[in-house]
Amino acid sequence: MMAESEAPKRYWIWTVGCQMNKVDSDRVADTMQARGYLPAQREEDADIVILNSCAVRESAERRVSGKLGNLVALKQEKPQLVLGLTGCSVSPDFEATRKRFRGADLYFQPTRIDQFLEQLDVIWPAPADEGVMACWEEQPAATEDKGPIAYVPISNGCDKFCTYCIVPYRRGRETSRPMLDIVDECGNLVKRGAREITLLGQRVNAYGKDFKDGTDLADLLRLVNDIPGLERLRFLTSYPKDMSDKLIASFAELDKVCEHLHLPVQSGNDAVLQRMRRGYTRDDYLRLVERIRAVAPDIVLSTDIIVGFCGETEEEFQETLSLVEEVRFTTVYSAAYSVRSGTLASRWEDDVPPDVKKDRLRRLGEVQERISLQQHQALRGSRVEILVESTESERHDTPQWQGRTRQNRRVFLPRGDESLLGQVVPVRIEKVSPWAMQGVLVA
Ligand code: SAH
Ligand code: SF4
Repeated sequence: MMAESEAPKRYWIWTVGCQMNKVDSDRVADTMQARGYLPAQREEDADIVILNSCAVRESAERRVSGKLGNLVALKQEKPQLVLGLTGCSVSPDFEATRKRFRGADLYFQPTRIDQFLEQLDVIWPAPADEGVMACWEEQPAATEDKGPIAYVPISNGCDKFCTYCIVPYRRGRETSRPMLDIVDECGNLVKRGAREITLLGQRVNAYGKDFKDGTDLADLLRLVNDIPGLERLRFLTSYPKDMSDKLIASFAELDKVCEHLHLPVQSGNDAVLQRMRRGYTRDDYLRLVERIRAVAPDIVLSTDIIVGFCGETEEEFQETLSLVEEVRFTTVYSAAYSVRSGTLASRWEDDVPPDVKKDRLRRLGEVQERISLQQHQALRGSRVEILVESTESERHDTPQWQGRTRQNRRVFLPRGDESLLGQVVPVRIEKVSPWAMQGVLVA
């Protein structure tokens, strides 16, 4: 903790990118609070601003550079302001990172709280009796209620090296967290009000491979499933080649495991998949979907797709469209390919023109919207169960609650009794769009 005479320093964390980044930001915040720092109400009031960056797409990385540039300029007027950079833009080579992102005072890799504290201690020395925490697993548990939805990282890094992807270079080798640590954390979260837990990893279904003792994600799901008070259990993101029969069986055997699977396909064409080094074919993917649906007939699938990857022809792209039609995903997260320097694909020509990429994104979006709308229309008038997860949605005039079905479909409903927050409630679907559904509570 800080010397008593000093006013506590305030932090602000700015986060872009995926759910994993949000979790990492929460960890940094917990650590700072454990050290006696306080969250700032506004960015302007902060003594330290930490940017949690995303490097997956060029546009995200540009936003990070822009934001850092603004803050570095602000430091002219406010020289005592401390700037930190973390997230996937920070590679283990700090010197290289420093050159690409000039002006921050400290740089640390997202899960390396030890690196963060080491550098912070130089700037704001901590009293001698406080040791540097070795890593994020050893953080003290925070005590406040964080709401019904919780995310728990279970593995870090990725060993796959898909040719377009920067993640393995930035987040390093795949390492799994010990199973009992995770179960402990999940138990604590449930005690603090969590009803739904999503286990996170870049290749979450490869969890445990590094233990080399045969334990895997299915074993972990079984343990977490047994936690009393937990309602729902999900895991994200699954790599198609690592969907074992044992894991698929979890959808049928474990009552809390929800009927939703995010299974990025990236492309529907074999040649593109090969250039991406995804390690499966279109047919392998379709057969996998069949295997999953044979065990869990009402499962819904969502996916990630990259359009305009190096050399992607119109015919190759059309195979992606036809795969989307065939599988009928609920949601497709699509992106135009952007070169990430350092990856294998960065040595190839980025030869699909930007307007062609844009047009493919638009066409893919149209196909997907039609499919999502049809799926939602089929639910109109029916009764679904949703877990009420948050109040307010800015998209409505009257105050709304937002919840999701087990199949991860988003439902809005007029705000009601506060005691229903975090509860599973029956709702009748009245209005639908491709992106969400609107319902009313049924008695
Ligand atoms: N581990 C996950 C994905 C992590 S990155 C998986 O294997 O699917 C999240 C998504 O960003 C990817 O699924 C991909 O669709 C997209 N993405 C990654 N690198 C990209 C790039 N260079 N250009 C465009 N999209 C990219
Ligand atoms: Fe990137 Fe591929 Fe690893 Fe996903 S599996 S993080 S796309 S390298």
